Amino acid sequence: MFSRNCPNCGKLVPWQKRKELLIVDTIHCVYCTKPLCLSFKYSFINALIIGGATGLFLSRYTDLSIEFIVIIAVFAGEGLQRCLDALFPLKVAKE
Ligand SMILES: [Zn+2]
Repeated sequence: MFSRNCPNCGKLVPWQKRKELLIVDTIHCVYCTKPLCLSFKYSFINALIIGGATGLFLSRYTDLSIEFIVIIAVFAGEGLQRCLDALFPLKVAKE
C-alpha cells in the first residue's frame, strides 16, 4: 500500500521527485518518463481522515460552534492533504 514505485516500470521513484507533487500536479518518472500524478482514491480517503480527525478533535476539546469546526476542518484538510497524498502510491496520468 505504501509502495513508492512507478506504476508503469516498477522502479522506485525517489522522494526528491515525489515531493514536487506538493507544488505541481504531474511529475515524470526518472526511468521511463511516464507522467505520474496523485491517485484520486487515496486523496479522497486522506481528505476524509484529516477533516474527520480535525473535526473530532475540535468538537471534543473546544467549545466552538459546529459551523466553525466544519470551516476549520475543511481548511486543515486542504493544507495537509497534499503532503499526505505524496506518501501514497501514484498513478499514471493521462497525456
Ligand atoms: Zn517509471
